Amino acid sequence: MADITSLVRKNILSLKPYSCARDEFQGEASAFLDANENPFNNPYNRYPDPLQWKLKESITAKKKVPATHIFLGNGSDEAIDLVFRVFCEPAQDNVVAIAPTYGMYQVSADINQVEYRKVHLNDDFSLNAKRLLNNVDEQTKVIFLCSPNNPSGNLLDRYEVLHVLENFGGIVVMDEAYVDFSPEDSWLTHLTHYPNLIVLQTFSKAWGLAGVRLGMAFASPEIIMLFNKVKYPYNVNILTQELVLEHLQYESRKRSWVNLLLQERERLVVELRQLSYVNTIYPSSANFVLVKVGDANAIYNYLVELSIIVRNRNNVMLCEGCLRITVGSPYENDLLINALKAYEG
Ligand SMILES: *Cc1c(COP(=O)(O)O)cnc(C)c1O
Repeated sequence: MADITSLVRKNILSLKPYSCARDEFQGEASAFLDANENPFNNPYNRYPDPLQWKLKESITAKKKVPATHIFLGNGSDEAIDLVFRVFCEPAQDNVVAIAPTYGMYQVSADINQVEYRKVHLNDDFSLNAKRLLNNVDEQTKVIFLCSPNNPSGNLLDRYEVLHVLENFGGIVVMDEAYVDFSPEDSWLTHLTHYPNLIVLQTFSKAWGLAGVRLGMAFASPEIIMLFNKVKYPYNVNILTQELVLEHLQYESRKRSWVNLLLQERERLVVELRQLSYVNTIYPSSANFVLVKVGDANAIYNYLVELSIIVRNRNNVMLCEGCLRITVGSPYENDLLINALKAYEG
């Protein structure tokens, strides 16, 4: 089993973190004269809780994961960046990731000057764990997995993922941004068994809060403490903490959005199947579908002309000729379907 400490950068292990006023004293006081804040309640004059305990308690109640296993950040992107800053020595360590996948892993690797090793999925976007592990060496600190995967939409096979977890001694990141749309269980239930596992989730997709920027990382308390040590002291502002706390009450609304979007996805698939220039519709467990068409660039540009914007993945390896289409509202989906039918003439 992975020894987390041995994976951490030396400078991070020895780092003495910034100690903010709200770390030294917590609770109620009659006068807060410790943080040079403006005393007049407007009502955002006070610094936010650096560790977002109230929000974490609410997330704990939903996810059944103790608050000590939760990190909250400015989108999942903050957690992705922290993985590099905590575990990867620039110009020395490397990470291994499936390809194609979410673009931020590579961008974060490049910013942190960490070698990013892409291992292509099979043609049907399934994972071959053995091939992935063949690209691991002594300097590989992290493996990035994403399920359901973006941009392919498929779930990674449980047994292939388990093979990675059982045979890799470094950190395994499992990005579950689309888990709410998936029929399979989250990897959260495996956290206690794998102290090297980090599960990422977000409020940006099913919860409808992309503009608010709140991402979650779930991991062993050891990893969470390292993230807390390195993050900006007040990384999640008061507006975000309060708003997400409020929206957590509306889980039934989220569920009905998900149900509607899944119905709409099936309607979209049925309509797309009837178009002569659609070659493949890849199976999706997310709120988008990847579609291989005759001429992706031409169709992309045609849709842009009609002010309908999809994601052109034509230049991504294994996605040649593909468009990634987000499932929109029934009205938006109608616009798209009618436009595509008209393209056929
Ligand atoms: C959309 C998406 C995210 C979300 O990132 P945020 O920073 O939380 O908005 C994360 N991972 C994947 C794979 C995504 O597609």
